[in-house]
Amino acid sequence: MRGWQPGLELPRPNLWPGHNRTVTERRAVAVVSGGLDSTTMSYALRAEGYTLDMISFDYGQRHRKELAFAEQVAADFEASWTLIDLHAAGLTRILTGSALTDETVTVPDGHYADESMKITVVPNRNAIMLSIASALAVTSGADTVAFGAHTGDHFIYPDCRPEFVRAFEAMVNVAVEGLASIEILAPFLSLTKADVVKLGADLHVPFERTWSCYKGGAAHCGTCGTCFERREAFALAQVLDPTTYETIRA
Ligand SMILES: [Zn+2]
Repeated sequence: MRGWQPGLELPRPNLWPGHNRTVTERRAVAVVSGGLDSTTMSYALRAEGYTLDMISFDYGQRHRKELAFAEQVAADFEASWTLIDLHAAGLTRILTGSALTDETVTVPDGHYADESMKITVVPNRNAIMLSIASALAVTSGADTVAFGAHTGDHFIYPDCRPEFVRAFEAMVNVAVEGLASIEILAPFLSLTKADVVKLGADLHVPFERTWSCYKGGAAHCGTCGTCFERREAFALAQVLDPTTYETIRA
């Protein structure tokens, strides 16, 4: 497991301390949602010389319109893009009770770190997605599986915490022993979302072509937890936010 070391200046040419340019021969499976974090991560990995295989998941999220944004990034990069339809596979039937996947549960407004946001947890989501991404890594010859969790996710999502990433990496390498050796790369694990915005601005990420809002409407709602977090990140990073919000709160 590698993450970015905290306290390092942004932007900078190399993402990870101590790595060398042999990374240009490396191949990574990037788990991408079409959101700001995973899109920025993809730009960062590409800037580092990784060849990317991109993978996205329809897990029944009501904001599945984000997937079109992920597909567009892959097209821009001329990278492979695989969409795994976990909704069709029946996953949604067991993921009831999360505001992201259950139409009967209202997406809460408020701050991302609020207790109320726990209703947006999709149980074991990252282990499910990383397992499939790791299988793709074996078949595509990638030695890295990357996903874009950052510090702000730790509060509410247990599968975005460093201990999860370490444990998953250990598990998956037992599971594919003799077939491959896979590094689980979570480069933003010690970064805030504002840090991610700063990095994305430096990498010329087209933020207007990323989607965050959990409600999945015509425009970003501006009031749900992830809209709140997105707006706050741009403000803290002092980067112009190109997003159109339906509601702007003072
Ligand atoms: Zn929203």
